[in-house]
Amino acid sequence: MTNAVSNTTVSPESDSTAVPTPAAAPAFTFAELGLPEAVVAALARNSITVPSPIQEKALPDAIAGKNVLGRAQTGSGKTLAFGLPILQRLSLHTDRPAAKRPRSLVLVPTRELAFQVVESLAPYANAQGLRVMPAVGGTPFNKQVEQLRRGVDVLVATPGRLADHLRQGTCILDSIEITALDEADQMADMGFLPEVRAVLADTPADGQRMLFSATLDREVQSLVRQFLPDHVEHSTQDGKASVRTMDHYVLMVDRGQKDLVLSEIGAREGGRTIMFARTKLGCDGITDRLRALGIAAESLHGGKAQNQRTRVLERFKNGRTPVLVATDVAARGIHVDGIDLVVHVDPPADHKDYLHRAGRTARAGEKGTVVAIVLPNQRRQVLRLTGMAGVKATAVNVSPGSAELNSITGAKKPT
Ligand code: AMP
Repeated sequence: MTNAVSNTTVSPESDSTAVPTPAAAPAFTFAELGLPEAVVAALARNSITVPSPIQEKALPDAIAGKNVLGRAQTGSGKTLAFGLPILQRLSLHTDRPAAKRPRSLVLVPTRELAFQVVESLAPYANAQGLRVMPAVGGTPFNKQVEQLRRGVDVLVATPGRLADHLRQGTCILDSIEITALDEADQMADMGFLPEVRAVLADTPADGQRMLFSATLDREVQSLVRQFLPDHVEHSTQDGKASVRTMDHYVLMVDRGQKDLVLSEIGAREGGRTIMFARTKLGCDGITDRLRALGIAAESLHGGKAQNQRTRVLERFKNGRTPVLVATDVAARGIHVDGIDLVVHVDPPADHKDYLHRAGRTARAGEKGTVVAIVLPNQRRQVLRLTGMAGVKATAVNVSPGSAELNSITGAKKPT
């Protein structure tokens, strides 16, 4: 199994069902980044244990003090990608920040985002005794003045309100060590760039800077040229999630209709389908229900003997079995071309598993569709996972026989 590490494209003829793909293990754990134990524990309390793709890429460079340009959208985990390095760096101080002189600055386009960033960072800042404070319009100016006077580690501000504080001398930026610009493209769209430039010009030129943006149009690029001349660039779009020929859908179904929807998907004609379930028992249950309707499905999981698994996979490859129902572990090493539909019957455990499952389709430039069958109570969880994975999923309500279900998956009534 060791050859898998150097051999990223296991040949389609390979029968191995247990070869881990090289990306199977995260590049590092949060603890390995040198984050304090209290922060790692606080992350774990929020179920944050596996770095998201943008975190995996950006955190080591950001913690090393480099300027970072991150291309990532909301939901990708970008707040912690710039927030944890800020906190890490500020935790090295033994004294409190001086009055009116924050040590780091996060610029965001909207009030809502400012509060969200403060809320996201608060548990990890608290764990290290650091003070994070929002400075946005629409809230009392004098209260902010007082808080700034008492000393702030991380100031999370909108450009307009921060400019007011700078003009009045109630905030001074000469002690800023690290600045993050979040959603720079939105700031450009909202016409904030003149203020953003003025603010950045007020921060020490030798400070660390990070800029996150979903897109990099001309205005954002000019900001980068001026304020992050030396930087490393990281993008969620570099990974598997960006395979352009892959379409992602979250299919919302009513609880009582899930089995019917699955059977219509299983009955589709044409390509190969792979369905993912969490457990062996789950796989067998789905397979039995499909077979009872005359659909040639087979299950693949660790409860089967190796020679059985080899034969199941052989029949899937040669087209005799169009539908394979698998667990995550059993499917890890499957490299079969021509799988054009991946179905998450149960939600994946995390964004890594989402990507591993999705990666069974759209191989070698082929087109592929990935659908998650989602009950109303799973909707938030699954949308969060797709966000973490850096994929843009379209959410659609479907029901048995619905036109949407047919057009997305090719589903039809079993005959
Ligand atoms: P963001 O893209 O920063 O707005 O983050 C979206 C959501 O994902 C927030 O609720 C974060 O708390 C959460 N989150 C961030 N990183 C991770 C991670 N590595 N694993 C799971 N959830 C995360």
